[in-house]
Amino acid sequence: MTTVIRQEDIIASVEDALQFISYYHPKDFIDAVYEAYQKEESPAAKDAMAQILINSRMCAEGHRPICQDTGIVTAFVNVGMDVRVEGDMSFDDIINEGVRRGYGLASNVLRASILDDPDGARKNTGDNTPAVIHYKMVPGNTIDIHVAAKGGGSEAKSKFAMLNPSDSVVDWVLKMVPTMGAGWCPPGMLGIGIGGTAEKAMLLAKESLLDPIDIQDLRERGASNRAEELRLELVDKVNALGIGAQGLGGLTTVLDIKVKDYPSHAANKAVAIIPNCAATRHAHFVLDGSGPALQTPPSLDDWPEVTWEVGDSVRRVNLDEVKKDDLLDWKPGETVLLSGKLLTGRDAAHKRLVDMINKGEPMPVDFTNRFIYYVGPVDPVGDEVVGPAGPTTATRMDKFTATVLEKTGLIGMVGKAERGPAGIEAIRNNKAVYLMAVGGAAYLVSKAIVASKVLAFEDLGMEAIYEFEVKDMPVTVAVDTNGEAVHETGPKIWKAKIEEQALSIK
Ligand code: SF4
Repeated sequence: MTTVIRQEDIIASVEDALQFISYYHPKDFIDAVYEAYQKEESPAAKDAMAQILINSRMCAEGHRPICQDTGIVTAFVNVGMDVRVEGDMSFDDIINEGVRRGYGLASNVLRASILDDPDGARKNTGDNTPAVIHYKMVPGNTIDIHVAAKGGGSEAKSKFAMLNPSDSVVDWVLKMVPTMGAGWCPPGMLGIGIGGTAEKAMLLAKESLLDPIDIQDLRERGASNRAEELRLELVDKVNALGIGAQGLGGLTTVLDIKVKDYPSHAANKAVAIIPNCAATRHAHFVLDGSGPALQTPPSLDDWPEVTWEVGDSVRRVNLDEVKKDDLLDWKPGETVLLSGKLLTGRDAAHKRLVDMINKGEPMPVDFTNRFIYYVGPVDPVGDEVVGPAGPTTATRMDKFTATVLEKTGLIGMVGKAERGPAGIEAIRNNKAVYLMAVGGAAYLVSKAIVASKVLAFEDLGMEAIYEFEVKDMPVTVAVDTNGEAVHETGPKIWKAKIEEQALSIK
C-alpha cells in the first residue's frame, strides 16, 4: 500500500536534524575521544582533546555550533518505492528548503559557507544551499535519510587514486595520511572506498563515515571479510604514524577507520580516502507518513567531566604591547594565553590585501606589530559578542604570507594545523611566529573573545577583517622565529616512541 509523506514533514525533519548535529556530537564519538584522551601520553595532544571535549559539552549545553565551519550538507536519501510525496516541490528543493531553514534558525544561526560559481565570482548563496544529495530507490514505504554537515578543512584532505590491481591499499593509505597534515582536525575517522569506478569509490568513502565508531567491537569479534581485515590493520598502522590530535604528535590520530567496497573492473582498483574531523556531524531519520521524524536530545550525562588547566609556566602575552623582539624566545609547543586586540582575516581578505599591495595601494588597517587570526566566525545570537570562532586551515594562507609579513609589519599569525614550506620560510625570514588554536573547539575559543568589530572589507561577510578583543585565548606556538615547527617535530618524536613501545612489547 502506498504511504503518503508530506513534503513539509521532510523539510521539518531535515531542519531539525541539521540544528541537532550542529551542537550535539554523536555519543559514540564522545566516548571514543574520551577513551583516547584518557590513554594519551603526549601532553600537547591530550590538551587538544581536553579542549575538544570541553567544547563539545559547552555546545550541547548552549545549543551553539561545535565548529565555526558548520559544513556543507550532504544527504543520502533512500526512497521507498511505495511512497508518494505530497506537495509540488522537487525532492532537491525539499531538502534544500530544510537546509535553508536549519541554517537560518534565529536562535542558532549557522554559518553559510557555500559559494556559487566556484571558479569564478565565488558568491555566497547566503543560506548554505544547495546540499549535495544522493538518492536510491529501495523497496518499502518509508523515506530513510542520513544528513551530514561536512567541514571544508576535512573535505579538503580527501584523496583518490586509481591503483593498479596488484598495488597495496594499505601502502597507499599509509603514504597518503602523512601528506594530509592536520588540517582535517584529527582525531577523527577515515572513510575508505575501494572498487567500482572513480566516482563510486569516493561515494563509498563518504557513505562509510555515516556508520558509528565500533572498532573495539570489531577487534573483539574479529574480521569476517577483507574490508574488516583492512580496518583492523589500518587503524593500528595509521595510529603508529604518531600524527596525534591536531597533528601535535601522539598516540591517537584516528578513532576508527571505515572501509566499504564494491565490485571493480578487472583493470582497475579505485581507492578513495575521505577524513571526518573532530566536528563529526551526522544524523539519521525515517519518515513513515506519521509526521516529521525529529531527533531525540541526548542526556548531558553522556559527556565526561573534563577539566583543562594551563600550567604555571604558561606565557601570557599582551597583544597591544608585544613587539617583534619579544617573539625571539617563544618555544615550539609552548602554551600561550593571548589578551588584547587581535585582527582577523582569511582567504578572501588575504587575496585582496596582496592585490592591493601589488598595486601600491594603502592598507585598510595598520598591521604594524599586530597578530592576525585566520577565522570566519559564525554570526552572534542573543547577547553573544561573536558566534563560534575557531581557526581555519593556515596552509591556505601560505602563498600570501611572505608578502604580508614583508610589506605590512604583521608579526604573528594564529590558525589551524601546520604551515607548508613557503609559510615556514616566510616566518623564518621575517622572524615572525605562527600559533595554533584547536580546530573543532570553536565555541570554547569564542568565549575568550570579549569584543568584536569589523575594520575592513565588510562586503566579505564572515571573511571580513574584524578586530577581536581577546582575554586569555589559549594557543600553542606551532612555528617559532627560527622556523622550527611543532607539526614536524611532534609526529616524528611520537612515531619513534610508538615504535619503541611496540618493540619492547615484542
Ligand atoms: S573541526 Fe576542523 S575540519 Fe572540522 S569543520 Fe571544524 S575546522 Fe573544519
